[in-house]
Amino acid sequence: MQEKLIRQYQKNVYLICHPLVQHKLTLLRDHRTNSRDFRQLLQEISGLMFYEVGRHIPTKTVQVTTPLGRATGKIIAGHNIALIPILRAGLAMVEGISLLVPQAKIGHIGLYRDPETLMPVEYFVKLPHLLPKRLTVLLDPMLATGHSAVAAVKILRQKNARKIILLCLLAAPEGIREFTRFYPNIPIYVAGVDRRLNSHGYILPGLGDAGDRIFGTK
Ligand code: URA
Repeated sequence: MQEKLIRQYQKNVYLICHPLVQHKLTLLRDHRTNSRDFRQLLQEISGLMFYEVGRHIPTKTVQVTTPLGRATGKIIAGHNIALIPILRAGLAMVEGISLLVPQAKIGHIGLYRDPETLMPVEYFVKLPHLLPKRLTVLLDPMLATGHSAVAAVKILRQKNARKIILLCLLAAPEGIREFTRFYPNIPIYVAGVDRRLNSHGYILPGLGDAGDRIFGTK
């Protein structure tokens, strides 16, 4: 029997099982995939995953004139979408998505990990205006400890973002637990939920350091 294309992992956590998404995820995991291909694949998979997130986009009915007459259609309503990558790895998800929704505004949240507390510290925040009116999609390929995603949502909430969705490539059960502990009503979309974190906070088996693989550092 064919697998469902999207499965509910738990309340508000959705696993995208589409063959194209799973195929690209496997290539991303492969240690032989070079930076150029990794970036390309991450863009492509982000666009494909955004298709599922897109079901939350509000639309409105409009009339349009075709070369042969009048038709009724739907378009994205209002101040629509904000894409918010968490720096730096989230950046590589933006391009694939903004190809599909070029009208989306793009904000950035920069967080680094305090070496002593291991908690995220904000170093850069620039967000689009009218956030409360937008579907706000937070982008980070890896939901590992969950601390960065929790901190980023806190920032978005302070700016009155109301409708927030978290789009990640891979999650650890620990990250899902932490995030849903704070924000049980924010939907999470992922392509895979892996075994666990290692002692350095990396997802096992995961795909390694997403930022390093995207940017060819290290
Ligand atoms: N960030 C990464 O890039 N990889 C992980 O496995 C965890 C966090």
